[in-house]
Amino acid sequence: MSDSKINTNAEAPPGFAGEGFFATKLSDVVGLARANSLWPLPFATSCCGIEFMATMASHYDVARFGSERMSFSPRQADMLLVMGTIAKKMAPILRQVYEQMAEPRWVISVGACACSGGIFDTYSVLQGIDKVIPVDVYVPGCPPRPEQILDGIMRLQDMVKTESVRRRSSPEYTELLASYNIK
Ligand code: SF4
Repeated sequence: MSDSKINTNAEAPPGFAGEGFFATKLSDVVGLARANSLWPLPFATSCCGIEFMATMASHYDVARFGSERMSFSPRQADMLLVMGTIAKKMAPILRQVYEQMAEPRWVISVGACACSGGIFDTYSVLQGIDKVIPVDVYVPGCPPRPEQILDGIMRLQDMVKTESVRRRSSPEYTELLASYNIK
């Protein structure tokens, strides 16, 4: 994927256009706004975090996607990016961070370690963050290149744009959180 070819203009949702007006669904407008203003919380523990730093920097420039405003406070972030090896001792902290984020919140698992434990098939390493929190997008690689991280963010944007405004209060979502013992 050539980053210079990415179209970063937000596209209008489907609707009815005429002279001086455009009508569409409220959920599509909400989805458009949410998808283009995802505020990342980087939970970086090792090498994959360096790739995210490159993604933030001027060459790849994640600001093109409306995500330049990083937050190290879970309460002011809605996109948790987990990057690096997560030791089992760290798992409760990751879970606490996730629980402190307000809804709607999304999670991207970046790199082999976060997705599956990677090469560290040992007693001390969590074999995938989806053992403790739900994950929306998995980005493979050891490490993934910045293009792959951007691709993961774009895949998440696709999901956010089409997410129903009622999903977070649906029985399916409540069931998903209950399966993780999260209220
Ligand atoms: S996936 Fe590879 S690059 Fe990323 S944290 Fe694990 S060992 Fe490091």
